[in-house]
Amino acid sequence: MNKETICVQGGYTPHNGEPRIIPIIQSTTFKYDSSEEMGKLFDLEKEGYFYTRLANPTNDYVAKKICELEGGVAAMLTSSGQAANFFAVFNIAEAGDHIVVSSAIYGGTFNLLVNTLTKMGIEVTTVDPYCTEDELNAAFKENTKCVFGESVANPALTVLDFEKFAKAAHSHGVPLIVDNTFPTPIMCRPFEFGVDIVTHATTKYMDGHAATVGGCIVDSGNFDWMAHKDKFPGLCTPDESYHGITYAERFGKAAYITKCTAHLMRDFGAIQSPQNAFYINLGLETLHLRMERHCSNALTIAKWLEGNEKVAWVNYPGLESSKDHANAMKYMPNGTCGVISFGLKGGRAAAEKMMDKLKLAAIVTHVADARTCVLHPASHTHRQMNDEQLLKAGVSPDLIRLSVGIENVDDIIADLKQAME
Ligand SMILES: *Cc1c(COP(=O)(O)O)cnc(C)c1O
Repeated sequence: MNKETICVQGGYTPHNGEPRIIPIIQSTTFKYDSSEEMGKLFDLEKEGYFYTRLANPTNDYVAKKICELEGGVAAMLTSSGQAANFFAVFNIAEAGDHIVVSSAIYGGTFNLLVNTLTKMGIEVTTVDPYCTEDELNAAFKENTKCVFGESVANPALTVLDFEKFAKAAHSHGVPLIVDNTFPTPIMCRPFEFGVDIVTHATTKYMDGHAATVGGCIVDSGNFDWMAHKDKFPGLCTPDESYHGITYAERFGKAAYITKCTAHLMRDFGAIQSPQNAFYINLGLETLHLRMERHCSNALTIAKWLEGNEKVAWVNYPGLESSKDHANAMKYMPNGTCGVISFGLKGGRAAAEKMMDKLKLAAIVTHVADARTCVLHPASHTHRQMNDEQLLKAGVSPDLIRLSVGIENVDDIIADLKQAME
């Protein structure tokens, strides 16, 4: 099926007499007739539901839809985008290991990877996403376990050069993990360009209505763990907490997601609630329609800003003036996302003043939903970073992050105009 059809109908196929739309299975637990059967579920010898912290049918239907959209082999939902990125990395890296991370990433992920994971004993090297191949290769160590980046960085809007990053990761025997929250699989499918694992904050465009926090991890099934056995003992040697199961042998292409569920979800418990998964699915059903409008509105507004004398600079990968334009055309030619960043000639002070005057666009700690909103990263999402870290992350102190909604584009422009005046 094509992506539009998957958005509407993917992930769930009811049998005779069953609910037409994804049902909410609001139950923590599931009943079995024999104790032996339940025992087999615990040992992962049999497939089935037994406790919602590990798996729930509603969550699985929604994960399956996202998996189909990305073209992956297995997927799981998490309670938030943060949990998705944490699990995606921690599933294959532990104390004593090392990871390579693009410096242009979301502030929350930067904190998670660069500060918190370091405290957990994982060493992190950040690399400039525009670095040369030699600089990128120099970042790897003997104990490197993965490379992490964002397809379109929030809020720097850097478009990751997938092929450059995948080539470096694979030549060092590790997978490339990419957070694909901003373009969504409607605009970009990273697996087609060598990315191995994709994560999402479903909180953003997938939900699309600012109703539900959530995350998702999708595995392409392409990375051969057994070919790099020594690097990934968690997947390639027996797990004593599961009676000696070796995930990569037993579950093949589903090994990574199975381990992430059976091990990390079991122990950390960052499960999505079935009720929230239901809302995410409602969002997914119109994702293809909304992404088109987000992108076309954003391109119109980016061009308008570019021609505005009060505006100092505009960054939108869809603009020919953007240094990410070539990568955007290569990896997501039909559009990138609805997010634009720009600065006013009056700098940081003018940015704050202008934002206070907006009427249609609201100041909210959110991005990528149906309603137009703005944020000043230096004083909000990225406020724990120092100036040097801000610049490395592609966030200048005057940067306004404008998340263009799906309202009428003339109304959005009129609001920006009156606020600037
Ligand atoms: C928002 C966001 C996250 C974190 O998602 P939450 O659901 O808020 O935890 C991760 N990555 C990107 C790119 C985001 O925009």
